[in-house]
Amino acid sequence: MWVRHLSLSNVRNYRKLELDFNRGPVLLLGDNAQGKSNLLEAIMLLATTRSERAQTDGELIHWDALNDPQPVARLVAQVERRDGSLQVEVLIVGRPQAQEGSSAEPGGRTPASKRLRVNGVARRQVDVVGQLTAVLFSTDDLELVTGAPAERRRYLDVTLSQLDPSYMRTLQRYGKVVTQRNALLRRIQDGEASADELSFWDDELAQHGAILMSRRAVAVDALAEHGREAHRRLSGGREELQTTYLPRVDGWDGSRSGAQPEALASVLKDSLLAGRRREIGAGMTLSGPHRDDLSLKLNGVAASSFASRGQQRTAALSLRLAEGRFLADGKGDPPVVLLDDVLSELDEGRRRSVLESLEEWDQLIITSTDADRFGEGLPASTSAFRVVAGKIEAIS
Ligand code: ATP
Ligand code: MG
Repeated sequence: MWVRHLSLSNVRNYRKLELDFNRGPVLLLGDNAQGKSNLLEAIMLLATTRSERAQTDGELIHWDALNDPQPVARLVAQVERRDGSLQVEVLIVGRPQAQEGSSAEPGGRTPASKRLRVNGVARRQVDVVGQLTAVLFSTDDLELVTGAPAERRRYLDVTLSQLDPSYMRTLQRYGKVVTQRNALLRRIQDGEASADELSFWDDELAQHGAILMSRRAVAVDALAEHGREAHRRLSGGREELQTTYLPRVDGWDGSRSGAQPEALASVLKDSLLAGRRREIGAGMTLSGPHRDDLSLKLNGVAASSFASRGQQRTAALSLRLAEGRFLADGKGDPPVVLLDDVLSELDEGRRRSVLESLEEWDQLIITSTDADRFGEGLPASTSAFRVVAGKIEAIS
């Protein structure tokens, strides 16, 4: 699929933007701080309804709009999918700040709510996520390899949510169950509640948690295969990337066999029962998919501890390529691929390897500060734009 038209108003440093894209590679050139990443963030937001970068939705509203009677950021994408075209729209509505004499503080915590529409009709989040699918490659991706387990869980969650609305719904329910259960554990710790009350929450947690674990096990299988293949190619056949699912539950190793939700629910419940005293002591839930991780190994050793920086970057890149292929397989339509400044930090061979995967995608949007760095690697069909202070012009 590809984005034919993008329209932004009061989004980050874009006051008003109407931009037509072509199918195929798109190059966005611009100096630092002109709005390149902001544009890719906007496309990701339309795909996932969330920004990974922003702490709050209010951050996305243009500072100059914050003092409007009703501050609103509006994002609309006209998407061409294999099964037809579609319009996705996100409105971020800030609460009016207007109090006499005070003005909104840029970067301040602007409370905001979100409204979503598909083809002009109001929709819930689960019905919007994944209507446009996209994969973002960024220089922060190194965190996938070196960062905390939460980074890798987010990788799985964002990927699976784009593919499957029911996964996202389960994820949201599960999150609420963990919060409630943790509150109960603390009340039990303080002698304000009895341990018997946990049974209900154990059941809830096991039921929703098992669905998440089962989906993740199946997804990791496919992602691992794509990741291995991508990494092998990027490293010229010298390195083997091994990705395995590490679920946080005693009694299951995360392998695909045994990943039936019913069986997993009982494994998870047993694990909760066995760990009950420890959990009351800790005042939090210690088993379950909210603590899952992925193990990443290169040629048999942990990539986070032993791999070189370049190898770690390559592994992260491979995981993103795997995400793209996994989404393409699952949707029967390739996602829009967004490369934020990542080509420039790759060596010649790896860059060529990434660009060779170009035909796989209907649209690939690449940002860079400098065209010369890799200009000749891009096909003649590439359309190029210059980004200057929240305005974008085509370069002929
Ligand atoms: P680099 O090459 O350094 O990565 P970039 O072109 O990707 O630069 P962006 O991250 O897209 O830069 O844009 C950053 C700029 O956007 C910041 O310098 C900031 O001034 C501006 N900006 C961020 N949020 C807002 C906002 N809510 N309102 C107005 N401007 C904003
Ligand atoms: Mg940037």
